[in-house]
Amino acid sequence: MLTEPLPKKIDPRKLARKGAGMRGSIPLSELHHLRDYLANDEGNVDASLEFYRDEEGFYVIDATMSASVTMLCQRCLEEVNLTVNGECHLAVVWNEDKAKSLPTHFEPVVVGEDELVTASLLEEELILDLPLIAYHQEDECKMSKGYSTGEFAAEVEETRKPNPFDVLANLKSDN
Ligand SMILES: [Zn+2]
Repeated sequence: MLTEPLPKKIDPRKLARKGAGMRGSIPLSELHHLRDYLANDEGNVDASLEFYRDEEGFYVIDATMSASVTMLCQRCLEEVNLTVNGECHLAVVWNEDKAKSLPTHFEPVVVGEDELVTASLLEEELILDLPLIAYHQEDECKMSKGYSTGEFAAEVEETRKPNPFDVLANLKSDN
C-alpha cells in the first residue's frame, strides 16, 4: 500500500515523553474484533497518532483513523461499502481504578507493563463508529422501492464502487 505499516505494538508513555507522532496503516485482517462486524476483511485502516504529556501530566494519545469497510446491507443482504472515520482523545492509565478518576474529556486506555497493541487501540474506536445497521443508499439498494430488477444490477455496479484511495489521498494531502 501507499502508506507505511504502523508498528504492531507501541509504548505510549515513552512516545508521549518524546512527543512523538506517527501515521500509517494496519490491515483490517489484523483487527480481529472489528472483523466480526464486516462482510470481509479486505482493506486497511489508516491512522494518525499523536503522543504527548499534557500540562497535568497525563500521557495523551490523540488518534484519528479512517477505513473503507464492507458490511451487509440489511435490506437486500448484499455488500455495501462504507467509510468509517474515528477520532479519540485518550489518556493512558495503569488500571481500571485510575480510568474511573480521569477527567471526563478523556477516554481511558489501560496500559500496564505490557506494550499497547496498536490494532486493539484502533479497532475499539472503529467499532464504536460503525453503523449499528448498514444500508445502501436508497437509490443503490436492490430492495428499495422504484427499482425494476433488470435495471438494478447495472446501476448498483455503477454507483457502489469502493473508493479506497480517497482515504489515502486525504492523508497524503495533509503532509
Ligand atoms: Zn441494499
